[in-house]
Amino acid sequence: MNFLISGGAGFIGSYLCDKFISEGHTILCIDNLLSGKMKNIKHLLKKSNFYFLEKDIIEQIDINYFFDKLDYIFHFASLASLPYITKYPIHTELTNSIGTYNLLKLAVRYKSKFILASTSEIYGDPDIHPQVETYFGNVNTIGPRSVYDESKRFAETLTMSYFNNYGIDIKIVRIFNTYGPRMACDGRVVLNFIHQAINDENITVYGDGQQTRSFCYIDDLIDGIYKLANSDYNNPINIGNPQEITIEKLANKIIELTNSKSKIIYKSLPVNDPLKRCPDIYRAKEILQWEPKIDLESGLNEVIQYEKENNIYMS
Ligand code: UDP
Repeated sequence: MNFLISGGAGFIGSYLCDKFISEGHTILCIDNLLSGKMKNIKHLLKKSNFYFLEKDIIEQIDINYFFDKLDYIFHFASLASLPYITKYPIHTELTNSIGTYNLLKLAVRYKSKFILASTSEIYGDPDIHPQVETYFGNVNTIGPRSVYDESKRFAETLTMSYFNNYGIDIKIVRIFNTYGPRMACDGRVVLNFIHQAINDENITVYGDGQQTRSFCYIDDLIDGIYKLANSDYNNPINIGNPQEITIEKLANKIIELTNSKSKIIYKSLPVNDPLKRCPDIYRAKEILQWEPKIDLESGLNEVIQYEKENNIYMS
């Protein structure tokens, strides 16, 4: 089959490329390389069933040159980390609005299936815990995070309208915090802490560190996305690991696993930083027979090992 993967040079997108190439599908990976990296896909470039197109999905997309049929669109392009979305707010909004629109138009034209990478951020700073898919969320429409949160909410709405109005077979995956090898050190907590710990630098905990997150290892996430993509389910579904941890405990765990001399220092909490986050995965368990298998400690050890081998900042 022919697949288009937007954001295919990004952290999650590149693992999707690997998965579908290994199954013998033909992939058109589209990425503007703003946060995606060629090194994530360089091992695929020589494959005859892999095409790379450096392009921004905000612009019109024409795939005639590559395919005359397109079976599935995986829409995984978007900036996601706080430093990036605050540096490029309008670009983030347009990727998730115009970019999603451009890809949905392709889905109509080629009668492709369509899967949208949505996010736990659509729940904002939640007052329902853990977050179940039927919860509408608590998002500040004009806060610094809203450029991502609200545009992903709009992307979900637009995607659902294409399901209702054009009968496109759509899927919406709400991705909770994910980590793994290849993740960029772009301000997100797991990579920040691992880099700081490996280099015996201060570990920067924001706020009092009592806010929680629930971290899912990349292999588990890809397995969940794969099962959703192959299902008949068209409503949003949470994919994440419900093993919840405070950020302070995460810092201590990483210090311990890296045998680091680092000390924790406390910095101010970013505006509208959600105080807790944990997925309710009942729906994924029931509908996809999916649940995560990799516990936090094993996953962190994989990333620590990878970063020790690849971390350019290490002395
Ligand atoms: N965080 C932190 N120190 C850092 C980076 C992040 O304490 O160096 C905190 C951040 O304030 C948030 C949590 O870790 O409470 C997760 O942040 P991240 O940016 O990784 O993901 P998100 O907030 O989007 O879930």
